[in-house]
Amino acid sequence: MNNIYIIDDEKAMSELLQLYLEEMDMDAKTYTSGLDFFNENQTIDKNSLIILDLKMPEMDGVEVIRLLAQKELTASLILVSGYDTGVLHSAEQLAQAHHLNVIGSLVKPIELSQLKQLLATIIPIYDIISKSSSSSSSISHKNYQPDIAALKYALDQKQLILFFQPQINIETGKVIGAEALVRWQHERYGLINPDKFIPLAERHGLMEQLTQQVINMAIVQISQLINLHFTIPISVNVSAENISSLSLPEFISRLLQENKLDPTMLVLEITETALMCELVTSLDILTRLRMKGFDLSIDDFGTGYSSLSHLHRIPFTELKIDQSFVKKMDTDDNSRAIVKTCIMLGHELNMSVIAEGVESKEVMNILSELGCDNAQGYYISRPMPSEQLLQWLKNYEQPII
Ligand code: C2E
Ligand code: CA
Ligand code: CA
Repeated sequence: MNNIYIIDDEKAMSELLQLYLEEMDMDAKTYTSGLDFFNENQTIDKNSLIILDLKMPEMDGVEVIRLLAQKELTASLILVSGYDTGVLHSAEQLAQAHHLNVIGSLVKPIELSQLKQLLATIIPIYDIISKSSSSSSSISHKNYQPDIAALKYALDQKQLILFFQPQINIETGKVIGAEALVRWQHERYGLINPDKFIPLAERHGLMEQLTQQVINMAIVQISQLINLHFTIPISVNVSAENISSLSLPEFISRLLQENKLDPTMLVLEITETALMCELVTSLDILTRLRMKGFDLSIDDFGTGYSSLSHLHRIPFTELKIDQSFVKKMDTDDNSRAIVKTCIMLGHELNMSVIAEGVESKEVMNILSELGCDNAQGYYISRPMPSEQLLQWLKNYEQPII
């Protein structure tokens, strides 16, 4: 987080918020009105956070939101109010309709734990915890490298949780799914990202157990969403080790049946590299998964070495273009050409095409011009915990493009 701004006419409230932030070793600039804030010509970008009071005499929070949108500023936003939650929710919706990244809202009187919880969705919790307790601990939490014993313990203790990132249809703006991304909720180090422990699990043969837990949690989420009338499929990531385990199709199929869910509610994402490991076994398993009605997505497309003949033999239903090309396709002609080719290729092979790593409106517009079907990325939403996904879905207004 580069810049944090607090805009609140109540001095006592600003001071309290600043104290809380200081406790987490963060610093904020405070303003007593929206006018002062805009007069200072602040640097505002997607790494900025604005904590905004809704009720202010000169320029209220809603006007600030409108001005930010007019200036096409893409900051993250936390709304603060003494109003009831209904008002906060409609202000949240308004901000979201203006493509501002609303992390959440706080009702006065604000508590430190609530602020921490909200900040944790944009800054890894271990960053916050390490900053706020660095003096009492000799280990830097950010540099924490788990070992295999700790990971085994985490799996046994069910310390893994899922974050979800929505996916939308570019033409209609409709939410068409969400990807489940695993996190480790460590007792001491807070939230740990998957790149810290997935490779470890892969090296030590723990992926079967890990993926089973992930799929179990995804199924709970799917059922919960259906109960709330959001019938959207959830995508889960599967590793090379998983697609060499011949019992995988039966395991997943049984689970869905037990939960009375249609197989189309679960999408399996497989990276190109995973495929190449044991092609024959993978082919067997993936074909059986398809026959059982699961959708298969080829993840990180463009980064591996899958030859066209392999791609053609495996019954993928979705092609997911790697974020490295998508992110810079508005400034880099080569990336744009690669994305365009991937879209054509996917369509030629009857797959739907999704672009991941969509971080801006510009990229979204180009994808739309190129006929890409679906999109996922920070521009739409960051990955978020289950409760926040529900809130996001309730507040979401189409279309986002
Ligand atoms: P992935 O499957 O390619 O997931 C996408 C990653 O990109 C996620 O990181 C997501 O947070 C991030 N991302 C999404 N949109 C944007 C964007 O607009 N900009 C940028 N800069 N990044 C974006 P995350 O959650 O850290 O996951 C990293 C990788 O860990 C995943 O890459 C996947 O390979 C692996 N992973 C995560 N969960 C699981 C799981 O349950 N099982 C397995 N086998 N692997 C997993
Ligand atoms: Ca993925
Ligand atoms: Ca990917």
